[in-house]
Amino acid sequence: MELTHLTGLSQAELSELMASVGQPAYRARQIFSGIHARRLTSFDEMTDLPKDLRSRLSEQATISSLTVESRYISSDGTRRYLFKTRDNFPVETVFIPEEHRDTICFSSQSGCPLQCTFCLTAQLGLLRNLTAGEIVEQIIFALNDAYGIGVPTPRGTNLVAMGAGEPFLNFDNLMQAVGIMSEPAGLSIVPNRITVSTAGVVPRIRELAKIAERPHLAVSLAASTDELRDELMPINKKWPIDQLMAACKHFEKSLKRHERFTFEYVMLRGVNDSDEQARQLANLINRHDLRAKVNLIPHNPAEPLPYQPSAVERVEQFQKILEHKGVPAFIRRPRGRDILAACGQLAARSASGDTPVSISSGSMKRRIA
Ligand code: SF4
Repeated sequence: MELTHLTGLSQAELSELMASVGQPAYRARQIFSGIHARRLTSFDEMTDLPKDLRSRLSEQATISSLTVESRYISSDGTRRYLFKTRDNFPVETVFIPEEHRDTICFSSQSGCPLQCTFCLTAQLGLLRNLTAGEIVEQIIFALNDAYGIGVPTPRGTNLVAMGAGEPFLNFDNLMQAVGIMSEPAGLSIVPNRITVSTAGVVPRIRELAKIAERPHLAVSLAASTDELRDELMPINKKWPIDQLMAACKHFEKSLKRHERFTFEYVMLRGVNDSDEQARQLANLINRHDLRAKVNLIPHNPAEPLPYQPSAVERVEQFQKILEHKGVPAFIRRPRGRDILAACGQLAARSASGDTPVSISSGSMKRRIA
């Protein structure tokens, strides 16, 4: 029997479901809080529920659909989790400790249908979209592993949808997950702590512009001419740069005065990192009069990708040219390269430093601590 995955239900949906089996609304509130605020991972741990209800729930529903296959810890403290779904598809999540606020990078799909040539995930192809519950569960798991089950996050948490997959090709499930995570009775991670990165699914950028409570937008650009972008990010053949810029402009009009959106620009040695290409990028952004900042991301090499990262001085020079032309630009520090956790490296691979576990997420903290 297919178990209902309660983690993917909003509090209102959970109340409806519980009402349909004759349970009062406060039981739904207890369960929602158990899953999202207390971050429990099995009904057995919800000792505020009557025992017979717990056992009925265990027979018909689940709150832990992901199983941890492996957990890797980088020398820089970054953690990568490789999960399997109930139907055996890989899911990867990365926890990145930072000075002020920790970040969790989650996946929206298992694999990815897009064929960005600098990204290892592309080689998996699309395996399937993740459900809202599977998206939320990645966050619950990473928080529990980093801080302890149910322990409040010490500094708040940023989330980025930059793991495996193109989030805008799984838009409904992504937005359902964003809604669930923002509920004050649960994880209470508001949308403006979340950034969604797209390779350029133009219709969804326009759709996001209509949503009031929404995550931040990051657009992965990688090139400022169609010729090069067609090669690096084939999605450009469907939605070329001019259409993408027009959608970004449309989105920008929906931003509040102090808000900006982001272009991500992966730096590939000898491919897209020349002075001329920096000027082209700045001109493109300025020509469309876009209030955007650029994150320069050193490429993370991995076999068999055919690229190397740009040298540090090259990235700095590229940044200078952008800044000189009035485009704010920041250099992102690669994290977790040694455990294949960095941008573009997620391909369900094993790495040295493996700490394999085969467990249900409920007992994760104790077993791997
Ligand atoms: S960069 Fe993102 S969109 Fe492109 S193939 Fe990789 S996961 Fe997919």
